[in-house]
Amino acid sequence: MTSTHAGSIDGLEDELRGGLATRSLSPPFLEVDAWIFDFDGTLTDYDSADQLAVEKMRQAFCAHLDPADFLRAAKDSRAAYYRSVAAEGPRAGLDAFRIETLFTSINLPLPTAAVRSYQDALRVETTALPGARTLLERLATKYRLGVVTNAYDVEPQRSRIEATGLGDLLDAVVIAAEVGHFKPDHQIMWVAAEMLDVRPERCVYVGDSVPFDVVAGKAAGMTTVLVGQAPHPDAHLHVHDLWELDQIVAAAFTR
Ligand SMILES: [Mg+2]
Repeated sequence: MTSTHAGSIDGLEDELRGGLATRSLSPPFLEVDAWIFDFDGTLTDYDSADQLAVEKMRQAFCAHLDPADFLRAAKDSRAAYYRSVAAEGPRAGLDAFRIETLFTSINLPLPTAAVRSYQDALRVETTALPGARTLLERLATKYRLGVVTNAYDVEPQRSRIEATGLGDLLDAVVIAAEVGHFKPDHQIMWVAAEMLDVRPERCVYVGDSVPFDVVAGKAAGMTTVLVGQAPHPDAHLHVHDLWELDQIVAAAFTR
């Protein structure tokens, strides 16, 4: 679009309206029965919660260690788990494996309470990302809502979802380690559709990962939204964050 008032407030408003108009939702987003969301990185900021939980663990069990060194070792131990998953296939038990590996790597005995303590801290630090509740409340007026999460620890993950306060808006929560299918396997998406009693092709799936969320959603026959990443040709819509998605949905609802 062109603006005749470039640089003025009017021009800015024109630009904003033009931006939204070009991103209006097409029928595959609106003529559906359910919207399904990834959890970590999409509805909540896992990385910052993890960082805070790791720091609490350091303070509780090895306060003499340098925070940056401990955090780096904690990140390495998570990477080691993902490598083992890539080599041997996905399975439950990320937290225990990771924290055991972490304490081994820093040559300290594993404190008995470390895993539980980390999981408790991670839950406490888990909050809904800005815009998440507004968006879900808006969508809930027209659609069924679900979460599909690739979590490896079932009950701790369920507690984290509850900790965001979004649980009352969700009609289905599918945790990979519980159902035995992990993204990018499209079968986990079909489990979610079945739990929501909707057809997969009548679902929108929103996530922050191309190789896991976009691939799984597309393979399942769903319309996909990619959040907070560079646009990807396989995603049907790209948004910077949930506020932007909420604006687009709100504009579509009022037309
Ligand atoms: Mg994610």
